[in-house]
Amino acid sequence: MKTPPRLYAVVVALSFFLSVADAQSTKLDRQVAVTIDDLPAGMADRLPASAITALTAKLLGTLRDQKIPVVGFVNEKKLYKTGEVDERIKALQMWLDYGFELGNHTYSHASLNQVGLKAWEEEVIRGESVTNLLLAPRKMKLRYFRHPYLDTGRDLLTRSQAEAFLVERGYRIAPITLDGWDWMFAGLYEDAKKRNDTALQQQIVKEYLAHHDAVFAYSEQLSVKVVGYEPKQILLLHASNLEADHIGELMDVLRKRGYRFITLEDALGDTAYSLPDDYVGEEGTGWLDHWAITQGKIPQGAPVFPQWVIDRTKELHLSTGTVTAPPPD
Ligand SMILES: [Zn+2]
Repeated sequence: MKTPPRLYAVVVALSFFLSVADAQSTKLDRQVAVTIDDLPAGMADRLPASAITALTAKLLGTLRDQKIPVVGFVNEKKLYKTGEVDERIKALQMWLDYGFELGNHTYSHASLNQVGLKAWEEEVIRGESVTNLLLAPRKMKLRYFRHPYLDTGRDLLTRSQAEAFLVERGYRIAPITLDGWDWMFAGLYEDAKKRNDTALQQQIVKEYLAHHDAVFAYSEQLSVKVVGYEPKQILLLHASNLEADHIGELMDVLRKRGYRFITLEDALGDTAYSLPDDYVGEEGTGWLDHWAITQGKIPQGAPVFPQWVIDRTKELHLSTGTVTAPPPD
């Protein structure tokens, strides 16, 4: 029996729509692991312990409510402020109490490209002390390392020696593939918050969300060009009042793009993270760039970071002198 032409058309149209819907839902099964650096807080030098505790509780509360697994990377130097050591350690402890994991980000946020291999290795070891004490009763171990400034070495020998050192100490390097420079927005936000400038805070948040959305779109396209598909991505964020107040909205930006949240361990299972990578350079960068440059491709078309945020940050530095961190001692 022949199918009546009309019904046939309907069936064809339906199967077309179903396959489109199918393709879309397949395409939109994106996965991302969230990582947060510079614990207990990026601006720990300028914040009292009470503020660090408050922002930590707010940040972790949102992440726990939204069931988003996170690894936080610690700079233990930020714990040592006279009279506040106990409270600062407690803020770190909260990450574990809330069910999150901690990794090492060196003692004082040392760049492998600046301090040299030996000093940098000492930084890694010194960055383990308190974190190990907090992890031990939970039968947990430090297993992830994140390079400060994403600086992985200026030459291949240093890079491979540093990596061999990390492996020997039981670390897996935690690469990143998504990075919208939230720390840059966070500095300006912190200042606006301190001055109760709510209009500026809102403007910063709007820009921060829009810029991250653009970076995600760009990184997805770069992924396909470089990896051949969109791997399980790894997002880099920083512990700050900006994230404490607005990370939920940023997670919504990711959800709208079709992402679900996975552990770092799960993300690292993606074979993309064993792609050839011989990137070296003065400037640290994300792993999509590493792979692209290794393949002889120059990543192009990255979203431009909003100039007014850079300008305001510079102005702030000139007028208040509080934007740059104090020189390392
Ligand atoms: Zn950092």
